Amino acid sequence: MNLDAFIGQKGLVATLKKALIRPFHAYIFEGEKGLGKKLLAMTFSKQVLCEKKIACGVCKSCRLFDALTHPDFKIIKRDEDKKEISVDAIREIIKDISRGPIFASKKVYIIQEAEEMSTSAQNALLKTLEEPPEYALFILTCNNLERLLPTVVSRSLVLSFKRYSSSEISEILKSHGYEPKDYVLKLCRGNPKIALDFYDKEVQNKRDYIFDKLLSYDGASFSLIKEFESDFEKFKDDFAFLFETVVYFLRDALMFKKTNLVELITNTDKLEKIVEFANKHTISHIYRLLQDFMMLEKYSDANVISDNVLDMIFLKLSGG
Ligand SMILES: [Zn+2]
Repeated sequence: MNLDAFIGQKGLVATLKKALIRPFHAYIFEGEKGLGKKLLAMTFSKQVLCEKKIACGVCKSCRLFDALTHPDFKIIKRDEDKKEISVDAIREIIKDISRGPIFASKKVYIIQEAEEMSTSAQNALLKTLEEPPEYALFILTCNNLERLLPTVVSRSLVLSFKRYSSSEISEILKSHGYEPKDYVLKLCRGNPKIALDFYDKEVQNKRDYIFDKLLSYDGASFSLIKEFESDFEKFKDDFAFLFETVVYFLRDALMFKKTNLVELITNTDKLEKIVEFANKHTISHIYRLLQDFMMLEKYSDANVISDNVLDMIFLKLSGG
């Protein structure tokens, strides 16, 4: 794949295409998880290193890149058993960079989730960013720009990733061999990773589990919240997904309750369940559950549901 085949992020892709011959020495690809930062970083790197600058797939550089054995290309990321990207890891690449490129005209380093760098690692990198050799190209991917030193950010060109349009998400799903579904397009909020996850059977099982649990709600929110609490502790990695599943379910039920319009339901594949739930409970019962449930947001380390909260407040203001 090359930049021409990349779906979405048109502005960023155009910027990078113009930079293929003379890229800036450091880019920060910034944005929420799942927006394709690493994919675009890999695509750009391969094309910069390619002898023909097209990611031809057949030149020596492309073949080495595809085999992940290109001597002028490295990916730096946090080791799974470590808390951060250490200063030693950064010192190693600084040593590596001093040797100059072997095959290509550039040496390319992707620092994945660069916000995981310790402060001393960032300071070590800063020196190289201030006086980079002309063949150096750094791409830092970052989910949280605030965790990078301002000095690192100011020495780099920041490219901010946006959420994708529904038609771009559809295109991405098709390119993976999946049929785009209405509820996926609605629930993924323009995030391709979330969209793709819906095609995982395990994810669907979890979704069904949450739905069944909500359908068992008998008006005693305390015990249901307790059950969710222990689920969330068990499945910490899935917190955002599980949490959003509940919030969207309750949002749908409230929307339907207030308007009687099935068109406003986002979980379009589960209309019957939403309607069944909505018919069983009063608006204030559902609000109560939602309010109590929101307290579980404390288990999140990211602000996963800010959009939904706004949505809820809007609902309330409009006469809930
Ligand atoms: Zn090539």
